[in-house]
Amino acid sequence: MSKPKGDKKRWLISQIELETWLDGIANARTLIAPRHVSGIMLYRQVAKSKEIAWHGQAPGSSNAFRPLLSVKEIFFPQTERLFTIQKTGQEIHLKEAFPDWETVVFDVRPCDARGVKLLDALFLDTNPVDAFYARRRENTTLIGLACKELGPTCFCTSVGGAPDDSHDVDIMLYETDGGYLAEAVTEKGRFLIPSGEWKETTASPKQAMDSGQFPVPKKGKWPEHFNDEYWMRMSERCLSCRACAYVCPTCRCFAVRDEVLAPGEFERIRCWDSCAGENYRRVAGGHKPRAEKGERLRNRFFCKYYYYPEQYGLGTVSACTGCGRCIEVCPVGVDITEVLMDLEKSA
Ligand code: SF4
Ligand code: SF4
Repeated sequence: MSKPKGDKKRWLISQIELETWLDGIANARTLIAPRHVSGIMLYRQVAKSKEIAWHGQAPGSSNAFRPLLSVKEIFFPQTERLFTIQKTGQEIHLKEAFPDWETVVFDVRPCDARGVKLLDALFLDTNPVDAFYARRRENTTLIGLACKELGPTCFCTSVGGAPDDSHDVDIMLYETDGGYLAEAVTEKGRFLIPSGEWKETTASPKQAMDSGQFPVPKKGKWPEHFNDEYWMRMSERCLSCRACAYVCPTCRCFAVRDEVLAPGEFERIRCWDSCAGENYRRVAGGHKPRAEKGERLRNRFFCKYYYYPEQYGLGTVSACTGCGRCIEVCPVGVDITEVLMDLEKSA
């Protein structure tokens, strides 16, 4: 189990107390939580706690245990307007569209919180800082929920995570027999806890289950596999559909383009992109640095376990949180755990 840092305060709260608290938050700020949208669970704004897909259960729902897309889209939306451009005669006016609202996200799983921390390495901790991402990070409080059960594709413990890892959230909740144990992890989280209303406790969260581990090739071993025929073979089944990247909490490629809104009015938007796409990184003149599907598939796995950790100084930490979403959505069964085990075997 991940040990809490420093002297953290803890409280025991009932389901009713949790719902009352969340209702209060929803009245004062934007509360985002898992919600069913046409049978799919997504992180969306909720007006009251009754709208939350508690444990993913709801009539007619997919009964998934966590949202299809990770919390990434709250900080780095699928499509976002960066600014609008107005041209009147020879004059051009730019108007930025900075997000400026206080947001609280409820039911953040440890793997997704870790994913946000990994995105910080690019958007926040490296110059130039991404002002849009930074603003959202600053204005957002994360309420985590430790996993009680592991999904069939989870492998967080093999990549350094844990189902009860509280390091990357502001408040952590652990389910107990009668309700929840709440833990203030950061000052930002402490600020959100209602003063004097909850029963303080010295109890510790119970040991979480182990999801079982398998060996993952160490970072230094990856370059040896760069020219393996394996990537071409594996890519034969890939459809270049990009679904794996879109559900991934740490994939962060984007494209920027301008759209016409009206005569003399334009917007600059950025939207998710993926190295799986055939035209990824195509340059003027039509050259594609990764023309073969196998090269693109290889890039995705290298990016998680070698390129990104190397480029952003993550040490032995990989850019994969073991959430397993890419395994669930791939229509042709490309399974990252299979790839990791195959590489480890062939080392
Ligand atoms: S398991 Fe797949 S979706 Fe999840 S972080 Fe790793 S690469 Fe991304
Ligand atoms: S989800 Fe599967 S088929 Fe689609 S791009 Fe990813 S690996 Fe290829």
